[in-house]
Amino acid sequence: MRRLLTDPLARLRERADEREAAGLRRRLRFRRADTPLLDLAGNDYLGLTRDPRVIAGGVEALQRWGAGSTGSRLVTGSTELHGELESALAAHCEAQAALVFSSGYLANLGAIVALSGPDTLVVSDAHNHASVVDACRLSRARVAVVPHRDVSGIERALDERSEHAALVVSDAVFSVDGDAAPIVALHDVCQRAGALLVVDEAHALGVVGNRGEGLVAAHGLAGATDIVRTVTLSKALGSQGGAVLGSIDVIEHLVDAARPFIFDTGLAPACVGAALAALRVLDVEPQRASAARGNAGRLAAALGRPNSDAAVVAVPVGSPEAALAAAERCAAAGVHVGCFRPPSVPDGVSRLRLTARADLTDVDLERAIQVVAGALARN
Ligand code: PMP
Repeated sequence: MRRLLTDPLARLRERADEREAAGLRRRLRFRRADTPLLDLAGNDYLGLTRDPRVIAGGVEALQRWGAGSTGSRLVTGSTELHGELESALAAHCEAQAALVFSSGYLANLGAIVALSGPDTLVVSDAHNHASVVDACRLSRARVAVVPHRDVSGIERALDERSEHAALVVSDAVFSVDGDAAPIVALHDVCQRAGALLVVDEAHALGVVGNRGEGLVAAHGLAGATDIVRTVTLSKALGSQGGAVLGSIDVIEHLVDAARPFIFDTGLAPACVGAALAALRVLDVEPQRASAARGNAGRLAAALGRPNSDAAVVAVPVGSPEAALAAAERCAAAGVHVGCFRPPSVPDGVSRLRLTARADLTDVDLERAIQVVAGALARN
């Protein structure tokens, strides 16, 4: 007999109890503006979120354009400032054109869904970010998830496809472990198979390349019209928002077809102004990119981890409980580190995730190394 739920929330409580037993409950903590913790958990890779020039860019935009963008991009939500940011992003990353979305998450949903569909095979790396995974699910395409960085697995999936179109999607720098995609090999495989390559540069913009131009441009592939890049404005650029970079054809297609572009309110002017100011800082202080990578290298070496390709250093801990306990010991000693547990990572490989900012001092680094090593030694 069909059994109907009488208490619709009872199953949520059961799930919460299961997560509690598995060490997987998540609790919000509200950060104070003057927190004394040393931040190795955020994604402010270049230390720009509180840079006076970036704040001034946001404030000026707020005063000139108001608190909100007032409408979707195609109605009233495209200010001249949005246009300026798009030109500056395209110039910085050597792309033909850019299109700003209200987050990196939505840039991925917009690009991947609009560039695929039921007639397309989408091939996705197993370590891709959740926003890429969700975009694949929304695409209504057949999705082949291939093992991490497995270029021959990608090639096989492309060769065996029955669909005439194909899209390969990969993070440029993988968000949890900080390793880079084999971008040149990926592009070769895509070219041979007539597939479009979508690369999420969220953790590479501002960090990878001499000027923080990202992984694709750093490998001389910025001119490839069969590569589409997505970026976030919320990490190295210290603001909020996202963008897609690509050929004029691709960007025009997204204006017509990307639902998160068409139906979402345009990015708030303050975020646009702050991101634009951050790009200008990066243009005059390109050494911030190598400083972030250098600091990540020092953290990785001191903690016995492989050198990071960007500014993320992951330290595997094992169980979610052990990872949480280590992160709490770090916080108690004054250092805020990221703690990644399932579903952000597979079972059994929970991690501490440290982000190295360009503006960490020698004293900060020494303290961070001591505290994290001490917290791990007690596991
Ligand atoms: N892609 C990757 C690889 C990310 O790590 C993130 C942010 N965690 C996003 C996309 C989403 O960007 P945003 O936070 O701007 O929505």
